[in-house]
Amino acid sequence: MSSDCLFCRIVRHEIPATIVREDEHTLAFRDIDPKAPTHVLVIPKTHVASLNEASDPTALGRVLLAAREIAKTEGIADTGYRTVINTGAGAGQTVHHVHVHLLGGRPLSWPPG
Ligand code: 5GP
Ligand code: ZN
Repeated sequence: MSSDCLFCRIVRHEIPATIVREDEHTLAFRDIDPKAPTHVLVIPKTHVASLNEASDPTALGRVLLAAREIAKTEGIADTGYRTVINTGAGAGQTVHHVHVHLLGGRPLSWPPG
């Protein structure tokens, strides 16, 4: 845990968020500035700054499997969805706690910007 990390503070329920799924290891909540009808952020509860610092394959796998499960409950599993991890400033990472964006509910063009 990192005391001043925004997402760690959401994990500790110090900052409100619309939580869509929670288990022992992961937390998923709606993005405050959604870029698609479904825009959920899925994070490991343990603080890891970015994919560059991640070393636990099980923790990473749990986050992806949680995203897949949420895609089903959000009703976008069959129409299509995108899972994105922005890493570093050049890719637009603004919160330094690794997170998977789950986006869906509208057509998603490729390649992303
Ligand atoms: P990044 O740009 O690091 O890949 O993604 C960070 C995401 O966190 C952004 O999509 C942004 O809208 C979202 N975000 C930033 N602050 C908050 C917050 O306080 N609550 C929630 N739910 N999302 C946030
Ligand atoms: Zn954190």
